[in-house]
Amino acid sequence: MARRKASTPIQEFPLIRQLQRRFERKSPSILQGIGDDAAVVSILSGNWVVLTTDLLAEGIHFDLRTVALASVGYRAAMANLSDVAAMGATPRFLLVSIAVPNTLQAADITRLYRGLRKACENYGVHLIGGDTSASQQGLFLSITLLGTTTEGHALFRHGAKVGDSLYVTGTLGDSLAGLQVLTKERKTARQSRLRPAHRRFLVNRHLHPTARVQEGLWLSRAGLATSAIDLSDGLSGDLRHICEQSHMGALIEVAQLPISPACRAYAEEQGIDPTTLALAGGEDYELLFTVAPSKEPSLKRQASARGFQITKIGVIRSRLFGIQAVSTDRATRPLPVTSYQHFQ
Ligand code: ADP
Ligand code: MG
Repeated sequence: MARRKASTPIQEFPLIRQLQRRFERKSPSILQGIGDDAAVVSILSGNWVVLTTDLLAEGIHFDLRTVALASVGYRAAMANLSDVAAMGATPRFLLVSIAVPNTLQAADITRLYRGLRKACENYGVHLIGGDTSASQQGLFLSITLLGTTTEGHALFRHGAKVGDSLYVTGTLGDSLAGLQVLTKERKTARQSRLRPAHRRFLVNRHLHPTARVQEGLWLSRAGLATSAIDLSDGLSGDLRHICEQSHMGALIEVAQLPISPACRAYAEEQGIDPTTLALAGGEDYELLFTVAPSKEPSLKRQASARGFQITKIGVIRSRLFGIQAVSTDRATRPLPVTSYQHFQ
């Protein structure tokens, strides 16, 4: 797909001019978008600014043999949108830097930006700048996202207390299952034997994940969560971050993990336990958060009124307790980290 020799080579200045035209957005909050040395935006006083950045490297975070460039762009934006969601903030302005190998052509970059733009439009975010370079090998994509919250309202990884309940939004393991379906199909050149609706669901959860921005804003504004994180690397690893930052331990009930019918069907077909996908699978971009017991009735009431799917999966314990899981055989054991880790 993207591995041809460039027939329309990429030129930096025409590319930037094109981006400037394509992303020209009139908004009272943007005083200068693409086209100057830096972008200038105005933010209401009394707001906190939330900033996050993510770097994606071809061969590490994505494989252009299984994922189209539009999806790479979309997913890159989503990774950042999800970080802002996990802070309980509104995503506002995005900057994107690319380093492009000469195996890609101008049309490929257009596809990449089509995905980025779709993600931005879905979340009301403005693309206001970036940087462009050549790359000796592989595509690099770095996104910086700025969000805002009302002063005093943000969700941190710290703040969880002994006795707080652990909740997650949505279902877990779908993105990993979708990735495995795509990878197997590429290797065997045969379509998966899953029911088409299940296959479509899982592949879509991988290629078009949803950042839980509405849920994060709700938890933050209503003061419902004591801590939160987004599930980008996988529950078994991301739970650890909340515990470390909060100086706590946790006990989770593996049987309670929310698993979609499609993910169950996939696990059954593969002869594996779906909870291993739910614990290890990254890139679901669901939120993991903690709630004080006194707030749980109102959490549940408000979630159902708003149509948000949330599931209680465990409870915060002391730091000495460590991080343990009650598995499906009812035995309680320390929870191993099976999620994604760099440099391993
Ligand atoms: P500088 O030399 O100051 O880095 P550039 O020529 O790289 O300036 O950038 C000019 C303008 O184009 C800036 O507004 C910058 O944010 C924007 N820009 C450059 N590359 C990209 C890109 N890949 N995506 C979006 N905007 C870009
Ligand atoms: Mg530059």
